[in-house]
Amino acid sequence: MQIDTLYVHPTVTKDDYIIPMGVIGLMNSLNLNIKGIYDYELSKELLLSTKIVAMDLHGYFHLKKIEELASKIKSINKKIKIIIGGYTATILSSVIIGIFDIDYIVVGDSERPFKELVHNLLFNRPIDKIPNIISRRIKTQHSYSTTKDEFNSIDSLSLDWFPSYKNSIKINNPHFIPTLRGCLYDCAWCYGGKNNQLEICRRKQLLIRDPEFIVNDILKCEEDGKIQEIFIMGDFFDLQRFNKIDFSYIKKIFSRKYNLHFYYEFYNLPSIKELRMVISCFKKCTLGISFFKNHGQSFHLNDMEKIKKIVEFVQKMENAKLIILGDMRMQPIKDYGKFFINRYRNVEVKNDCLWRMPVPQYCSVKNKKDNQNQFKVFYNMSKVWKLEYGLD
Ligand code: SF4
Repeated sequence: MQIDTLYVHPTVTKDDYIIPMGVIGLMNSLNLNIKGIYDYELSKELLLSTKIVAMDLHGYFHLKKIEELASKIKSINKKIKIIIGGYTATILSSVIIGIFDIDYIVVGDSERPFKELVHNLLFNRPIDKIPNIISRRIKTQHSYSTTKDEFNSIDSLSLDWFPSYKNSIKINNPHFIPTLRGCLYDCAWCYGGKNNQLEICRRKQLLIRDPEFIVNDILKCEEDGKIQEIFIMGDFFDLQRFNKIDFSYIKKIFSRKYNLHFYYEFYNLPSIKELRMVISCFKKCTLGISFFKNHGQSFHLNDMEKIKKIVEFVQKMENAKLIILGDMRMQPIKDYGKFFINRYRNVEVKNDCLWRMPVPQYCSVKNKKDNQNQFKVFYNMSKVWKLEYGLD
């Protein structure tokens, strides 16, 4: 069968079953013959029947892999058009387009530009009016960001076109439900941070999906039967503290029972009432809190007495487990980590320092020289990248 668009997800770490949340919706929006594979599933046969390959370059640690994949794909079938997108692809677009065997980069948000680009390429229509596109020949205006309606109506649950992803979803490998884009906080190392979002996606404020759509997605996961665990990114209780949503929003999501496992991170320490509310909705919960305030934005430690109370509460819950995140290079955190691990069952302490990637503050899309330097740093790191967790 002829494949109009083949999505290839690059893999370099043990966590690479995860594909960026937006990709599934983008592929589902095409209404064409589509297929999704991990890079190790690529075959000559598949490439000879493919017209367009789409790949994500989200984290910089996939840079080297994307370069290798692009040249492999072109060496097998020169006619294939290769499109990449994602945060790293956006930041380093001006460098990548000149040296990788890539035809198009969709910068920033992709919902409308990706769909139009794929269709126009397949039907030989011009692409110079599509926003957010970079090729060796053209650079269109980066003027598009996803609208609320587009975000609400994302289909992130039709997965039959990517069977190996669907098969990889299990307990501890959750499926991500889209909830928000952007963040209240501004961690320089996180692509979701306020200023990084402004630079990468031209997003001035948070994009929050309406709760009805989130509930609908959770219920569909439940019905599906194959999806056993889901991950919701973003702390609704924290958003409520900052008046970004009200309690009725939270109630719409956390006031019913779901026959699913649930992974959720609180950006600031929850109250016992909030914990109880979440835990009571799901068959089983893995809940994340951080040693630091604001999901790691600050290096101010949270109140350890409050953390202990949370730990002790979760200990009593049959269906909940707690993960505490922190930068284990820091001595006090290391000691607290060991204390919690040794003292309490069902508590895991994870090292999240490796997520602290030096992103766009050194890497302005407007500054070509910085871009080239940053590309070199990221590219060299991507050659040796290996993601590991845990206390030594
Ligand atoms: S690390 Fe967490 S708090 Fe910081 S910007 Fe990213 S999502 Fe927001």
